[in-house]
Amino acid sequence: MDGTPLDGTHLTALLVALHFAADKHRDQRRKNREASPYINHPIEVAEILSRVGGITDVPTLQAAILHDTIEDTQTTAGELETCFGAKVRRLVEEVTDDKQLPKAERKRLQIVNAPLLSRKAKLIKIADKISNVRDVTHSPPTHWPHQRRCEYLDWAEQVVAGLRGENTAVDALFDQALQTGRAILANLHS
Ligand code: ZN
Repeated sequence: MDGTPLDGTHLTALLVALHFAADKHRDQRRKNREASPYINHPIEVAEILSRVGGITDVPTLQAAILHDTIEDTQTTAGELETCFGAKVRRLVEEVTDDKQLPKAERKRLQIVNAPLLSRKAKLIKIADKISNVRDVTHSPPTHWPHQRRCEYLDWAEQVVAGLRGENTAVDALFDQALQTGRAILANLHS
């Protein structure tokens, strides 16, 4: 692991994004039993893309870290553009739901729109679904009944069907997470 100098500019760009996201999500917790800090989730999404997907494109990794800031915090698209540039702003916007719409419609649109996303946005979205499927499997929101967890996995599979083909390792990790989730949920029910 030693001997390879980090590219300081890229490292700084990632840490600035991490600092920004941690600040924006600072008061948010996941609804699981542990009430995990929300920031664990975007960190996991970026970590999957880097470690498993081998992604080194800095705007993609920054957008992964920032992917829920517009949807779930007060952050505006303009703020992202000012701090991180147009590429990052566009990627985050691509993976942001329109919160004006009812939940069922937003879920339907994710399936419909998945194949239309840019290649980089597809990667972020698959890693997001991997992280969420793992959470629904291992530390679900406390108020979710068994059936809702199963339905979440089915829906995630439908969204990811439209995202596949950009990165074999990331696709395979999703399949593995889904398989594990279904096995664990089936066991709980038997
Ligand atoms: Zn997310």
